[in-house]
Amino acid sequence: MTASPAIRLRDAAVRFGAGDTAVTAFSGLDLEVAEGELLTIIGPSGCGKSTLLRLVSDLAPPSAGSVAVMGGPPAEARRRRDIGFVFQDATLLPWRSVLQNVRLPLEVGGGAAAAHASRSPEKLLEMVGLAGRLDALPHELSGGMRQRVAIARALVTGPRLLLMDEPFGALDEIVRDRLNDELLRIWEETGTTILFVTHSIAEAAYLGQRVLVLAANPGRLRELVDLRGIKPGNRIDRDDPRLFAATSSLRRTLETC
Ligand code: ADP
Ligand code: MG
Repeated sequence: MTASPAIRLRDAAVRFGAGDTAVTAFSGLDLEVAEGELLTIIGPSGCGKSTLLRLVSDLAPPSAGSVAVMGGPPAEARRRRDIGFVFQDATLLPWRSVLQNVRLPLEVGGGAAAAHASRSPEKLLEMVGLAGRLDALPHELSGGMRQRVAIARALVTGPRLLLMDEPFGALDEIVRDRLNDELLRIWEETGTTILFVTHSIAEAAYLGQRVLVLAANPGRLRELVDLRGIKPGNRIDRDDPRLFAATSSLRRTLETC
């Protein structure tokens, strides 16, 4: 555990536009995420979940308050390539093989990326269970496999922070459950700090050490639920009644958001 947290928000707000047409995505957000933590984020549509990830990754500036990533401005973390992103849609280049897609961030990053503590694309593809599909093209893969490629690609520059925006939202439940377990294994193997946005209350409760619940209109922090007490070794059985209770409680909280 290092002294400075991976992420620190102080009274942070993001607004879009100005005057009468201004939209507040969220405001007054205080949050600290420790290095190596897995934080899941849920809340109704429009409460600012995606904007929060954009704020942390320097894609949206704070309108008020402050944001620090790895102890400094998000722009610096981005320049150091400390941040990886995985979206709902894997957005792989269709004409490039699995291996070539995972190598891409190293190529576009040029010398900076190569000099960074990057990880071997082949090793990462082995870690996500695709060692046998290096030469496959994206259209030859299932949706779950494509998301695995996207995870390997996001990790190839060796980021200390991984931002995931509903990465498994388009997958069926069985595949999603399997990828949840794989993500937990990858998280343990890499020690990466993860912010994971999801619409699924069950997924948020199963994956998160803590769950950030945001409320909408206006976007704000509703509750920060700590689940580490019921997850020794960061794991809990899907059938564990304590997980069921946590999920039910989160559902009740969300009903008031
Ligand atoms: P969520 O991901 O929780 O569904 P978002 O972060 O996408 O919510 O959006 C939060 C609010 O900010 C919404 O009201 C949305 O319309 C608004 N918003 C998001 N991005 C922009 C933008 N680029 N310009 C204007 N408004 C935006
Ligand atoms: Mg969103």
